[in-house]
Amino acid sequence: MSTDGHDVTLIRGGTGIVFNGRGHSYLKDGEIAIADGRISYVGIKYPGAAGRIVDARGRIVMPGLVSAHAHVGAHEGGRLLLDAGRREFLRSGFLHFLPARRSGAPGFMTGQDARASLRYGFATLLRHGITTVLAFAPGGRDGGELMLEVANEFGIRLVWSPIVQGGRYWLNDDGTVDYEADEAMGLRQLGDAVAFIERHRGANDGRLSGVIAVDEFFGSTPTLRREAKKAANALAVPYTLHFVEQHREFFDTMMRTGRTPVQLLADEGVLDPRTILAHCIYIASHSLVGYPVEDDIGLLGQAGVAVAHSPVAFSRRGVALESFDRYRKAGINVALATDAYPLDLFAEMRMASIMGKAADRNHEAAAAADVFAAANLAGAAALGRDDIGRIAVGAQADLVIVDPRTLTVGANPDPLRALVHLAGPENVDVVMVGGRVLVEGGRLAMASEEQILADVTASSQRLWAGYGRYDAHGKDVSVAFPPSLPDFGSGA
Ligand SMILES: [Zn+2]
Repeated sequence: MSTDGHDVTLIRGGTGIVFNGRGHSYLKDGEIAIADGRISYVGIKYPGAAGRIVDARGRIVMPGLVSAHAHVGAHEGGRLLLDAGRREFLRSGFLHFLPARRSGAPGFMTGQDARASLRYGFATLLRHGITTVLAFAPGGRDGGELMLEVANEFGIRLVWSPIVQGGRYWLNDDGTVDYEADEAMGLRQLGDAVAFIERHRGANDGRLSGVIAVDEFFGSTPTLRREAKKAANALAVPYTLHFVEQHREFFDTMMRTGRTPVQLLADEGVLDPRTILAHCIYIASHSLVGYPVEDDIGLLGQAGVAVAHSPVAFSRRGVALESFDRYRKAGINVALATDAYPLDLFAEMRMASIMGKAADRNHEAAAAADVFAAANLAGAAALGRDDIGRIAVGAQADLVIVDPRTLTVGANPDPLRALVHLAGPENVDVVMVGGRVLVEGGRLAMASEEQILADVTASSQRLWAGYGRYDAHGKDVSVAFPPSLPDFGSGA
């Protein structure tokens, strides 16, 4: 840093949501200085000179949001199922479009423009104030190079390695779906993930870090889960897997092993603060499980495990975590996540609060301050980092400036409640990662939003048009997933 301050950026005025050593606090009409990509001052009046002043009067300056689990991409399959889907798949959405055709016929995703899909995903994350994302995605044909390239184009902080799959879902010619475990494939892919992390250490100017991601608890063996956790520990990276997001995971596991899925993971020794369980809905005490005799929540809490909680996707299937407050009180680190679409942590914060209150029948549950911290501090802790998710001296300058002066938000005496219950991504004005301005005036600085939308629309429409080739019975997309309304004049 030079002494004349020309490389110092000063954010002046507004309300800062800044870290006080224990949690968030309000800094009113203060100043936040940034130098060399990090926060160098937080207080009332910066004592030095600054080369650039960002006027934040009337705005809220908050830490960049952390999504602890996101499927980055266009979600062409999930978009068909917003309030429908085959009844025999119960509440599961992905079984409609993920399985490969056993006959060798084209998969649903055949024809997707992978670059357009990823550009759309990273653009929305960043544009919505998410500065760090734990992405859940396979490597693709190039082993992950495209993923790194697109993340680098947008400048977001990415936590990722290609996922490790313990088996495959198959779509049979009669329309049924099977799962076949393949431990050898999983162990091979684990080796690939480890090699990827070692090869790309420090990539994207240090914005890439690794994670060992096993696709599913349900589709993996104890050996694969233990080996994966061991590899994550050896690399000092977090470990994550989808866990009890389908309720048959609970019942099938009980029938096969006599233990709950949580007891199984506890016995395998894979639960600790660096393990992130994605979703973790159907535990013993959940009302849709109806097995309250075991204390799963206590086991998870004792281990201090992290849960990536994405309430929006589950609320659309009529399901809630039970509950945000009960998990936290037990000692579980509940971090928010965007899962599918919209990749929007404002929506997740609001839904976490609403569903948390509904689940506990308590209007004081899932308070705004707690769901807000779940969208930054908790995610950072799950990733083992104390330099993101907070505005504090020495932390990365990953910041979001929100302009609440819209009719939707209106006047509000408490900025944080306004952020959680009233604001949305349309209020995001400026987004910085490592001090670099990536969103300015509510628009992406590095790419055309119109082009991103046009490209992803063309790619998605191609997939929907080809759905009939994927469907076991050759049903066209409009037959398999009927539109909400008939066409005008069709007589229907
Ligand atoms: Zn997921």
